[in-house]
Amino acid sequence: MVKTPFIETINDVIKESVKNYGDREAVYDQYERLTYIELWKQSMRLAEGLRKLGVKKGDRVAVCLPNWNETVVVFFATARLGAVLVPFNPTYRSNEIEYILKNAEPEVLFITERFSESMEKSRALSLVKHVISVRFNDRDCIAIQELQMNEGKSSTETAVSPEDLFCILYTSGTTGLPKGVMISHGSVSKCSTAVVNEMRCNDDDVFIVPAPLFHIFGIACNLIAAVAAGARMVLVEKYNPKLMLELIEQERVTVHQGVPTMFLKELEVPGFENYDLSSLRTGMVGAAPISPEQMKKIREKMDFHLCQSFGTTETSGGVTINGYDDDEASILKTLGKPFEGIKIKIVNEFKEELPAGSTGEIAVHSFGNMKGYYKLHEKTKEVLGEGGWYYTGDLGLMDEEGNLHYVGREKEVIIRGGLNIYPKEIEALLYEHENISEAAVIGLPDEILGEVVCAVVQLHPGKAMTEQEVKDYVSAHLAIYKTPASVIYVEHIPMTSSGKIQKVKLKKQLIPKHG
Ligand code: ATP
Ligand code: MG
Repeated sequence: MVKTPFIETINDVIKESVKNYGDREAVYDQYERLTYIELWKQSMRLAEGLRKLGVKKGDRVAVCLPNWNETVVVFFATARLGAVLVPFNPTYRSNEIEYILKNAEPEVLFITERFSESMEKSRALSLVKHVISVRFNDRDCIAIQELQMNEGKSSTETAVSPEDLFCILYTSGTTGLPKGVMISHGSVSKCSTAVVNEMRCNDDDVFIVPAPLFHIFGIACNLIAAVAAGARMVLVEKYNPKLMLELIEQERVTVHQGVPTMFLKELEVPGFENYDLSSLRTGMVGAAPISPEQMKKIREKMDFHLCQSFGTTETSGGVTINGYDDDEASILKTLGKPFEGIKIKIVNEFKEELPAGSTGEIAVHSFGNMKGYYKLHEKTKEVLGEGGWYYTGDLGLMDEEGNLHYVGREKEVIIRGGLNIYPKEIEALLYEHENISEAAVIGLPDEILGEVVCAVVQLHPGKAMTEQEVKDYVSAHLAIYKTPASVIYVEHIPMTSSGKIQKVKLKKQLIPKHG
């Protein structure tokens, strides 16, 4: 197997693919198809337009766009100038956008017509110098095409080193306010190349990209990995399981990556078995926990090499993955081994390394580790330790074979009468029940025990299950202290756009009533 060589900067990654695969299709967003050369030319023209606007090396370029071809063009244009990308979630509302714009202080902001549903343009204009409109015109904005009306002179290329920042990505905000993670060119290109090599990708591959391009999963494991492989990308603007199956069939997709709920929803599409998914070859599932039973079901029904990966924004994406030739049991039950060149250790509260089989905090030593949180020096010091280790705040253990097992987030551990309870264990059991479609286990305050277990469940339409039935089901399988003290039924469990249950939000909603 010939490995894709590591390239130092994102600018060189795209240039190399333009040289090798120029006339081949690079990206399709169900609106337009662009070859590598077309993508490159559009990026060069936009870079020239941005340069004329005054954007220079180190300036931040905010991007509030869905997965469109233009988003990819903006990414490569920004990188060409040595400017720093700040992509963020286009479904954010006014106060969330304001938080990011004030933190990142970008020169320019790219928006769609829908932006005004979230924030007044005048407010945005008071926070950035220029607002650039994509796929609409507005007198307060500069249209992207206007910026591209030039030759895209080669003068726009700025010398960029692997250490220079490629982007500031905001974390999912699962445990609190999103933090701006500073990520270098070298980190993203190395992590993307590691994905390509581990998953044996090449220029025959077709990636489907429902993962948002404002998240590291979309950027490193999909977009830049696909470009590094010279592959074709199918961008998905708004996740829809039926559309995914249609596109996989129509575009002969080979690489499908996503969060657990995506795959599970696709299995539930009526007439699932009638779609031709035979082109699927490989992919990874990550960002949130998945049970071995769910993993097994997806692998069997979709019949492709889906593996698990553990990653964070702070490590520029995946740090472990199931090996291509690993046995079925470790693929179903573990997050695999570290990528080549990455080290993982499990530590206790004094940051001392623990032996195999012990549960502790997962720490990562990687070429993908962030430079720090933007303007959050104290927070950075809490998580980036001596010798370049990043302490994830996640609990896990290493087995004798060197595979990582995920236990849960440190912050989500429930301490009931001094005993630690890991919600993931109870959630996995609840998910196995045929009546339950989503489940989240949280701790609720209790005067005597400190905290007690509360199961929040969403039932499948038309199914019923009493509180006692839920409790009996859990106590039949797990130690009695893990049985929920209460069960709350909801119609919808709040999820982040990267597929994680928002427990902080859930608790806030529930504690006033149940605290
Ligand atoms: P915030 O840091 O703002 O609270 P977040 O941690 O969810 O949000 P991300 O960087 O998107 O932001 O997610 C990283 C986290 O996702 C990890 O720390 C871990 O808790 C979880 N995670 C990633 N991969 C997996 C996986 N394969 N299985 C279980 N959990 C995972
Ligand atoms: Mg985090």
